Amino acid sequence: MKRPYGHYAYSLGPIRKCAWTEEIAAVDLQVPTASGMIIADFAIIGGGYTGLNAALALAEAGADVALFDAEFPGFGASGRNGGFCCIGGARASDAQLERRHGRGAAAEVRQAEMAAVAHVATLIDRLGLDVDRHSEGEAMMAHSPAKFEALRRAQPEIDRRYGVKTRLIEASALAEHGLNSGFHGALILPVGFALHPRKYLAGLVAAAKSAGARLFGDSPVTAIAPAAEGFRLTTPQASIRARRLLISTNGYSAENLPPWLRHRFLPAQSSMLATRVMSPAELAAQGWTSPQMAYEDRRLLHYFHLTPDNRMVFGQRGGLIASQANDARIAQKVRADFDRLFPAWRAVETPHHWSGMVCLTASLTPFCGAIPELPGAFAAFGYHGNGVAMGSYCGKALADLALGSNGNDPDRVAIPRAFAAPPPRFPLGPLRRAWLAAEYGWARLTDR
Ligand SMILES: Cc1cc2nc3c(=O)[nH]c(=O)nc-3n(C[C@H](O)[C@H](O)[C@H](O)COP(=O)(O)OP(=O)(O)OC[C@H]3O[C@@H](n4cnc5c(N)ncnc54)[C@H](O)[C@@H]3O)c2cc1C
Repeated sequence: MKRPYGHYAYSLGPIRKCAWTEEIAAVDLQVPTASGMIIADFAIIGGGYTGLNAALALAEAGADVALFDAEFPGFGASGRNGGFCCIGGARASDAQLERRHGRGAAAEVRQAEMAAVAHVATLIDRLGLDVDRHSEGEAMMAHSPAKFEALRRAQPEIDRRYGVKTRLIEASALAEHGLNSGFHGALILPVGFALHPRKYLAGLVAAAKSAGARLFGDSPVTAIAPAAEGFRLTTPQASIRARRLLISTNGYSAENLPPWLRHRFLPAQSSMLATRVMSPAELAAQGWTSPQMAYEDRRLLHYFHLTPDNRMVFGQRGGLIASQANDARIAQKVRADFDRLFPAWRAVETPHHWSGMVCLTASLTPFCGAIPELPGAFAAFGYHGNGVAMGSYCGKALADLALGSNGNDPDRVAIPRAFAAPPPRFPLGPLRRAWLAAEYGWARLTDR
């Protein structure tokens, strides 16, 4: 596998201290290793939210499906994210979407964002999953008075774009909402909720298995070859034949699996920490007592929420180099930012810190569609760090595409035109991480 980062990024190193593994350990997600000859109608590569939603939908439709993960289901971002089930996925502006894809393209994307959140909520209810759901919508926190005024001006446009009624909280009222941390006001978007990412993941694994999907771990697909009957895939111990192929490897993708993917995705590291469980007195000392998931309105964003057992989970972008030393350095930086935002918790230990890969595209838009060079193969990736809802939704959409279901299918999810357009290759190819360095530098300047 040719992958853009060094070995450490694809090892267990970055998740050794992940808070979510306390309740759902890797061993709880173990599935058999693929071996011998395996024949399936549908093969899925990648066992995160995208692949598992696809597997579940296919199996529930009565299809014969086998899913392969290089490590175990949930090894990637889906087992280690911040738990924001929220809008997002594309970073392209409305103007860019309309210019590239025609009138109405932006509205399609915004509708898909809303539908993605609803998809996860419905799935959790239908499967009866206990995912520690909390927070009603999300809060955008203003880091300066000018930014709060910008939020106030943007409010009508945000309401129009998503067809919702947002709420402004003035700086003076933040404390009474349990959101005290020196911000200058907030805008509450009444869409989305927070969840325990691994509990959702484990629920998907159980549901997909009981619907009849065959899940395999420790089974990296190392080769994909088109064949008369569809595709032949190779793992270290198995040879797989499948009629249709679904690729859901997102930030953990390889440049050559399939070669069409080469330079079309840009993994970026994201880092998180979590405090130990805090007492009510400790929460009161800071004045942050709300379960509201929140993020700071900076370009180099911080995002955070209190879990139901009162641990603060706090995330931000990671470094450009994946290594144990760099992870430790970034963890210190995340802690310093955490201390700045929550000064009353400076003495509270943060025993958990971890990192993982999100995935960007050059079009700033997710891809969800047929792979042009490989008839019968489909892929979805590039959720720009917002894949809890959008990855789940695109997984269902991939299943619809692979099944060939048509517009008459009432369960079929709508794929925006913008998502069906293959993203171009990044300029600079193997050196494309330089874009991140440039973007982070620019963001640091404009955030001041
Ligand atoms: C630290 C962090 C915090 C985040 N916070 C949030 C958040 O709060 N809200 C939000 O919406 N999004 C968040 N995200 C992003 C979100 O987690 C991802 O967008 C989403 O999980 C992507 O799901 P996926 O199934 O497409 O990919 P992944 O979950 O990354 O799964 C890809 C899988 O593919 C497997 N794989 C790769 N290559 C092969 C191969 N050749 N053979 C077999 N298997 C292979 C990998 O082992 C991996 O398990 C965060 C991400 C990170 C890293």
